[in-house]
Amino acid sequence: MGKIWKISGPVVIAENMRGSRVYEVVEVGDIRLSGEIIGLEQDKAVIQVYEDTTGLKVGEPVERTGDILMVELGPGIVGSIFDGVQRSLVSMKDDIGDFLSRGARTFPLDREAKWHFSPTLSAGDTVMEGDIIGTVQETGLLEHRIMIPIGTQGEILEIHEGDFTIEESVAIVKDGDKKKDIHLMQRWPARKPRIYAKRLNPGNLLVTGTRIIDYMFPLALGGKAAIPGGFGTGKTVTLQQMARWSQTHLNLYVGCGERGNEMSDVLHSFRELKDPQTGRLLQEKEIFIANTSNMPVVAREISIFIGITIAEYFRDMGYDVLLVADSTSRWAEAMREIGARLEETPGEEGFPTYLGSRLASFYERSGRVQCKGSPERSGSVTVIGAVSPPGADFSEPVTQSTLRIVEALYSLDVSLANKRHFPTINWLTSYSLYADATREWWNSISTDWSSMRDTALRILQQEAELEEIVRLVGPESLPEDDKLMLLASKIIREDFLMQSAYHPVDTYTTPKRAHTMLSAIIQFYEMAKGMAETGTSVAEISALPVIQKISRMKDIPNEDFDNYIGELVADFESAAPGEALK
Ligand code: ADP
Ligand code: MG
Repeated sequence: MGKIWKISGPVVIAENMRGSRVYEVVEVGDIRLSGEIIGLEQDKAVIQVYEDTTGLKVGEPVERTGDILMVELGPGIVGSIFDGVQRSLVSMKDDIGDFLSRGARTFPLDREAKWHFSPTLSAGDTVMEGDIIGTVQETGLLEHRIMIPIGTQGEILEIHEGDFTIEESVAIVKDGDKKKDIHLMQRWPARKPRIYAKRLNPGNLLVTGTRIIDYMFPLALGGKAAIPGGFGTGKTVTLQQMARWSQTHLNLYVGCGERGNEMSDVLHSFRELKDPQTGRLLQEKEIFIANTSNMPVVAREISIFIGITIAEYFRDMGYDVLLVADSTSRWAEAMREIGARLEETPGEEGFPTYLGSRLASFYERSGRVQCKGSPERSGSVTVIGAVSPPGADFSEPVTQSTLRIVEALYSLDVSLANKRHFPTINWLTSYSLYADATREWWNSISTDWSSMRDTALRILQQEAELEEIVRLVGPESLPEDDKLMLLASKIIREDFLMQSAYHPVDTYTTPKRAHTMLSAIIQFYEMAKGMAETGTSVAEISALPVIQKISRMKDIPNEDFDNYIGELVADFESAAPGEALK
């Protein structure tokens, strides 16, 4: 048995630890705090402890478990709220403000609950790793597919329909000369990517319901994106919106080092909000990991890896999964703190030199894959991480390291926040490398998507180019066509890009509706250009009542929307006969 030799905050050095492995889980002290070995030197082990180490004393015991940190995967996981080391917080009711007492052990998944298992294979069938052998209808929104664990293959000797706990055997597989029980639950090491057959290119759109994302900077299923932004620019609200409305099979929300009350708010909202496609409660397709700012910093990293492991597990069933993490900067700060305790040679601004590779080891687990096993299926994990650069300075190391990894960037802007333009995603500095990959998907909505998007982005770009001139000489001295372009740009910004997370209709826009909205705006611009050519001044055009109508478009309920657009187009016609249909 090992013994505590030295204590430095969350880092404990234990002696008499020969034979242990890096990442082995250990129990530290008389109250058995959980921790993980992060370094070994002769008989000493450096341990990061996931719980508050106050009161630990030199000489107290350190016990090895022989196990690395495993994630429990099985029915009962959906709708759960876990802390940073996958202890279930559900039993704590609504209040995640005060977390479990130190050293407390709870199983991540309920051991007593029974689940109805329906086999899809029979005795005598041969199975391989990853094969689906049956299903459990876990929630109204999610069918949990039970897979043969990695490392098992052979002939099914027995398989039973019925009600089972996650630890009871539902099937027996003859693997060589061994008989292996198959359970509803399996375990997987958090730090190790799960295995798949083949990587596929991201393709279909991740429908988030946020117009500037879906239309302007689309994210593909299986993509990776970052949302950097200064304090109060809307990182948390944006991620919450995505975790709520994204049209995936399952969403994971990882609250990493941010305030607990925000986490409580998001939890409450999921108990009430309904999925727009099915009308069922959102919590039926959501998993929460809450490692808030009052919880030990060391667990931030593992909370992220537990989240991504769960995401991969559902990907392997053939599902599209979204994981959002708020905020990866808090994780990086934890790395910095541990690095300093270990007296490592620091890199830029005190962050460890392995900051970039560690961040990459998280983001790189996103992707669309062909899953292992039969039936043949593909699944995806999309990852979006918030980054909180101090002083909104994007040149700092965490933002810069993240930018080298991700393929889409939603850059949040303090000056837009000051103007109350939400979401504050800056249309000039944000980008998505998935625009080409999602074109085919968008073509199924409208083959005009690409040109409409280009037109809108070009108008916004032209507005930015004129900004300096407008500032110097005022807008009045601009030629009429520039004035009209500025009017169009203002309408695109205010009536399309701005979107309230708090308005019951505006909070979620389908891609089809987004397309109709922007088309109406561009159609108006074309009509107005025609009017200007025949002598109508931009001042007169700006006073047209149809502009008011465009500005109310975003709040019109879906059931009235088509009518409203019909009226709008009729108004174009009467404002400028013959022009609107050009
Ligand atoms: P951050 O996480 O970047 O510090 P928050 O996400 O907490 O910022 O957002 C700060 C505030 O900005 C919110 O409380 C809300 O008032 C406003 N806000 C952010 N995004 C939106 C949005 N899409 N719609 C309306 N208000 C928003
Ligand atoms: Mg926040």
